[in-house]
Amino acid sequence: MTVTVAIVGSGPAGFYTAQALLDRGDGYAIDIIDLQPAPFGLIRFGVAPDHQATKNVMRKFHQTALRDQVSFFGNVEVGRDVSVDELRDAYDAVVLAIGASDERGLNIPGGGLPGVYPSQAFAGWYNAQPQYRDLDPLLDHQAIAVIGNGNVAIDVARVLVKNENEMASSDLPEHVAAAIASSPLCDVYVFGRRGPNQAKFTNVELREMGRLEQCVSLVDPAQLPDEASGHDERDLRLKKKNLDTLRGFAGALPGSKPKRVHFQFYAMPVEVLGEARVEGLRLERTQVIEGRAQGTGETFEIACGAVVAAIGYRARAIEGAPFDDHRGVVSNTDGRVGDGLYAVGWIMRGPSGVISTNKKDGVLVAGHIEADIGGGGKPGRSGLEGLLRDRGVRAVSYDDWQAIEAAEIANATPPAPRRKFTTTDEMLAVLD
Ligand SMILES: Cc1cc2nc3c(=O)[nH]c(=O)nc-3n(C[C@H](O)[C@H](O)[C@H](O)COP(=O)(O)OP(=O)(O)OC[C@H]3O[C@@H](n4cnc5c(N)ncnc54)[C@H](O)[C@@H]3O)c2cc1C
Repeated sequence: MTVTVAIVGSGPAGFYTAQALLDRGDGYAIDIIDLQPAPFGLIRFGVAPDHQATKNVMRKFHQTALRDQVSFFGNVEVGRDVSVDELRDAYDAVVLAIGASDERGLNIPGGGLPGVYPSQAFAGWYNAQPQYRDLDPLLDHQAIAVIGNGNVAIDVARVLVKNENEMASSDLPEHVAAAIASSPLCDVYVFGRRGPNQAKFTNVELREMGRLEQCVSLVDPAQLPDEASGHDERDLRLKKKNLDTLRGFAGALPGSKPKRVHFQFYAMPVEVLGEARVEGLRLERTQVIEGRAQGTGETFEIACGAVVAAIGYRARAIEGAPFDDHRGVVSNTDGRVGDGLYAVGWIMRGPSGVISTNKKDGVLVAGHIEADIGGGGKPGRSGLEGLLRDRGVRAVSYDDWQAIEAAEIANATPPAPRRKFTTTDEMLAVLD
């Protein structure tokens, strides 16, 4: 008998789970549900627009979506249009793959001023995520501060300083490109509370910052430790490479290009300055003791017009699933949440790792489903379709999505791969 599975969320974790189930045989009917009309989660709305090669994994997921056993229900929000409990009634197994979509706030005085943006909103804006279409960030100053020492901080800095030529083969939305092009921005400060040995940058991303056409990356050589350190051999290799790259930045000339990215370590933001909007940032110098940043009491300020906090993501609780508020994930034991209810990806283990890190979650949970679910027998798709019909929800099928995508590709000016629609209404209008 066919086992019916609803996967809530069409990001990497959701698609890897679908693939892993298909790898186990033909006995599964899989419906992937997403609140966005567009599939693929953060591959579309998080991965930077100039890193198209990283987005190539979508092609593999596309093949999965085309399989007979798989259906896509976009534009359907679980928790609003249909509940987790209703899905559990309709499907033999329900897999939560909803990611971690809440920001971590900048919890310091002034953190709520206009001009302070969580990276989630900022990356959503430059990636055409509909809810951030009108973020309209304040880019009217020559300097901006980015807080955080992970790849998302680098993404934000890089997207802001690359020129038109470097972005030509990206899918940066036009209104975003126009906002960046007309901005006087020439100094981006990337602040880390700890040192280069603790920074989470991967080396490919860091190295790219040394090869930008109009921007030079800088670091104070006094902030570079003599030796790299890491928590294991692999980490040590990475830190050595990063240190070499940063040594290259330390020798760069600030005036050699019109824009600058300043990597500043051992600096902890303590207050966003300004009356009605961001006018600057006050930071405290730190020292790292046993891996932790400790304030030294010495402060300094920079003038800037906006602050982007790239300090991590947090999952949002969903009704019908227990939530571990401390860890910020759905309570689960190795992906098992309850009877016939599972979690994968960032909602299962928190927001860390790269796209492929989510693959093992899908494999693990597909194994659980095979082991836990006996004969199946719940209606699955017809049950969901009935609920959506009764509620007048306009679900976007995978065929619909392909029509939307074809329009995005047709609207693009090569070498841009697509011109993304920036609102849900625009996407749905393609189908009318
Ligand atoms: C800004 C940014 C840039 C990144 N860049 C890279 C990179 O360059 N390379 C790399 O390897 N990794 C990158 N990552 C990490 C990578 O994106 C994640 O590892 C991965 O996307 C996590 O997968 P997920 O499926 O758990 O979550 P997501 O990708 O977030 O997918 C969750 C999906 O669930 C949907 N959803 C949420 N709630 C509901 C609901 N209630 N009902 C229905 N659907 C719902 C969402 O719309 C989304 O489609 C980046 C992450 C971020 C935040």
